[in-house]
Amino acid sequence: GPDFHQSLYCHLLCGLIFHEEIQLVSSTFAHSIVLAFRTFEQVWEELCDDIREGVLTSRITFPSVRSAMAKLLKPNPELADLIEKKCSRLSNWYGLIPELFPNVKYIYGIMTGSMEPYLKKLRHYAADVPLISADYGSSEGWIGANINPSLPPESTTYAVFPNIGYFEFIPLKENVEEHMQENGNVSFLSTEPKPVGLTEVKVGEEYEVIITSFAGLYRYRLGDVVKVMGFHNSTPELKFVCRRNLMLTINIDKNTEKDLQLAVEEAAKLIAEEKREVIDFSSNVDVSADPGHYVIFWEISGEVSDEVLKECCNCLDRSFVDAGYVSSRKVNAIGPLELRVVWKGTFHKILDHYLGLGAVVSQFKTPRCVGPTNNKVLQILCDNVAKNYFSTAF
Ligand code: AMP
Repeated sequence: GPDFHQSLYCHLLCGLIFHEEIQLVSSTFAHSIVLAFRTFEQVWEELCDDIREGVLTSRITFPSVRSAMAKLLKPNPELADLIEKKCSRLSNWYGLIPELFPNVKYIYGIMTGSMEPYLKKLRHYAADVPLISADYGSSEGWIGANINPSLPPESTTYAVFPNIGYFEFIPLKENVEEHMQENGNVSFLSTEPKPVGLTEVKVGEEYEVIITSFAGLYRYRLGDVVKVMGFHNSTPELKFVCRRNLMLTINIDKNTEKDLQLAVEEAAKLIAEEKREVIDFSSNVDVSADPGHYVIFWEISGEVSDEVLKECCNCLDRSFVDAGYVSSRKVNAIGPLELRVVWKGTFHKILDHYLGLGAVVSQFKTPRCVGPTNNKVLQILCDNVAKNYFSTAF
């Protein structure tokens, strides 16, 4: 189907028609699985109507999709009643996946890195169905396999495929060779450490991955930060840490995508007490005024009082524990953190924006830190701000 939303609706419908045969729920990235079931919450009654009448909703407009669905869709009031009963029995959609698909064995997709924030919601839909984090790969090449699939996604490690490419690793902390280089009249400090080979990495250290592939990439920097957790035979087992270039920084502070995720998780606990959740989030550094400050964008699942959101804003500010940040905040070299709550559906607009540029939904990753060059996404976020709060934590 040429339209993602229409295709998703039909995938859900097919899933219901064949509900007893579904054994696996899977997508490349966990984000799409959560998005599918969030959509289900919105459209389940319409899906039941279609099944009851055996007629596809008029919202699906593509003739090719309509004729494909017409072959599968027959009036089935018993199934429509069954699904309606199941849905109304659920409390806040907990256990939706096993309820709809009683024979499902596990849920499979990439659940580490920038997908970790969706785990809570996925567990809610999955109840006791196991979540299995898929392998570590990229468009540039496959990197590692999850060889302990029964471990929870938070503990997943990936054993590097030693024969799929030639891997090198740039050490990120230790081993930094600082040396002055003479370049004509200009001398500058180079802090880029030498890459090490696959078997030279050290347990406990963090690295950026470089791949040389049979397809022709030569020493391509993936931009991913990984931590070596151990070895499987002689190949390292990696934990995915974060993207290297996603960084909130104003002066001496450095906060990664992971630091942001932890801060959001901490602050989200305050709205969880009110049965609300952070649907998605992003961030930006605002240096339009001096001093610059961090801006965190939140889309929330419902109404939350100003009082609680103000507390969330303070909690976010306090949760960035990086010494550079804390010391800069104390002397106001970084201004108070700002929490901007955006209207529901804003992150959907961002997804649509990327799809419009030709991105594939299965590869979509919400940008967690929006830089000044990403004008359009920043504009979508800023145009949809419903409320904003400034921290008083320092
Ligand atoms: P793409 O080339 O669009 O498929 O995206 C590849 C990128 O997705 C990688 O460089 C990683 O940043 C991320 N990625 C892929 N697999 C995983 C994984 N198992 N865990 C965390 N991030 C991943």
